[in-house]
Amino acid sequence: MPVRQPTASLDETAASRLAHLRAQGLRREMVTTAPAQGVQVERGGRTLVSFSGNDYLGLSRHPAIVAAAREALERYGAGAGASRLISGSHPYYETLEALLAQMKGTQAACVFGSGTLANIGTIPALVGAGDLILADKSVHACMLDSARLSGATFMRFAHNNMDHCRLLLEENRRDFQRCLILTETVFSMDGDRAPLVPLSELACLHDAWLMADDAHGLGVVPQESPADIHMGTLSKAAGGYGGYVCASRPVIDLLKGTSRTLLFSTALPPATVAAAAAALEIIRADSELCARPLAHARLFTSLLGREEAQSPIVPVIVGEPERALAASAMLEANGFYVAAIRPPTVALGSARLRFAFSALHEGGQIERVAALLKAHGYA
Ligand SMILES: *Cc1c(COP(=O)(O)O)cnc(C)c1O
Repeated sequence: MPVRQPTASLDETAASRLAHLRAQGLRREMVTTAPAQGVQVERGGRTLVSFSGNDYLGLSRHPAIVAAAREALERYGAGAGASRLISGSHPYYETLEALLAQMKGTQAACVFGSGTLANIGTIPALVGAGDLILADKSVHACMLDSARLSGATFMRFAHNNMDHCRLLLEENRRDFQRCLILTETVFSMDGDRAPLVPLSELACLHDAWLMADDAHGLGVVPQESPADIHMGTLSKAAGGYGGYVCASRPVIDLLKGTSRTLLFSTALPPATVAAAAAALEIIRADSELCARPLAHARLFTSLLGREEAQSPIVPVIVGEPERALAASAMLEANGFYVAAIRPPTVALGSARLRFAFSALHEGGQIERVAALLKAHGYA
């Protein structure tokens, strides 16, 4: 097909926005990266040890999971063919949702196309105009987008700050019909954890509902959580793709009947659903595997003389975007890939290297990367 003549004003808009981002050191570009052995990746013609994957348990290529996906692929084909509500709700979903509900200790579960779709489909299904959402300052972009999309009044409390959350409730709760509090079990950029028990008591006291995003918790940190609504992803420690919400039966029934990202989006391919169920079986059975990413993160924090890691995510905050890029380039020159995370993903002045530790890392790799950070004055 011949290339269509571009529309000048559209291209000028795009080019000037990109130039503006570049001038601030905030231009982002994708680099083609192929998975290699274990935690290695091939990038720019080199093989690097990556600390930037969320496949915490190495399950994306686990033989039993690949076999489950292959069998489903051969039996049922590449795609689901319709949304779950029409004819895409494959029998595999029943197995997967039962497993999820059991692991989270809830009455029921609902699987979505991705974690992002789970949030966008759930928050606006529960609250809207006349309701209040209070969100931790550090919640993921897709929770913020979902909150805005809901039409509810939206306020943020300082990160993990119970006093601020309490104050916002005391000052505002009575003006709204319903109230939803949003947080994460493990924060994706800081690796710290939310005070879920006191937060849930506070929510209860003010007749508010607590929703926790467990994208980075499933499979790598303990699962007992007092939240009313547990949301998460099957794309990180579970190694595949898809999102889920676990809650009481009436909440799940409401989501299954009204959530727009379920109603108006095609179901996951059957092979993906089968892979997720196989992954959860392994997570349930292999506690030694599940303990390894956190143990690796704790080796790293002890080598750097820092407070013990609370999750497999450990940020090394360096300040300005250029400094984060320089640190990432230094590690890359030494055979390691660690992404530089810059604003707006994190707050201005808190650009960082974000380390995500996998069960598949080796002690020697962790020791070497820690030594490089110290030798170059980054830690
Ligand atoms: C990755 C992530 C999501 C989105 O999950 P996907 O399945 O990748 O769409 C949501 N919340 C948090 C905190 C995440 O880290």
